[in-house]
Amino acid sequence: MATLALNSRVQSLVTEFGVFWQSWPQFEQTHGERLLVGFEVELIGSHTSDRNHVDPSCPSCRYVRSVLLAIADLMPGELNLSQNSLTYNIDSHSNSIVCLPALGNRSAVWVSIYVFSNRANGQSFETDLMNGIKALLNRWGIHQR
Ligand SMILES: [Zn+2]
Repeated sequence: MATLALNSRVQSLVTEFGVFWQSWPQFEQTHGERLLVGFEVELIGSHTSDRNHVDPSCPSCRYVRSVLLAIADLMPGELNLSQNSLTYNIDSHSNSIVCLPALGNRSAVWVSIYVFSNRANGQSFETDLMNGIKALLNRWGIHQR
């Protein structure tokens, strides 16, 4: 029941702040070879449609960021990341606001989640991890952009 309540709370906050996600592969250059070592997943949300809203001290932006951080903190437990010897880092970009063309230049805050593999990886690592993240975020109503 606890999980259920949590999920519906996350879902209503996601709707309120129009949270969505995007991801970028992270590569490492080794001996002239480009190796996929992980992903950056960005959670992005916004509380206003005002294009001129660029106030780093705005309490509402801070609240949206704290919601995104809470979601980011929930992810490792839900994904069973420890099983796959993965490293999980969160960067909250505190005091930063972005204007996104994808949002009609609305100002938004974002949280980056870096997931890195500690061992030699391959296509299956990439696919499994991405599928897990997609399924989890989709369950919370967070869609990819
Ligand atoms: Zn704000």
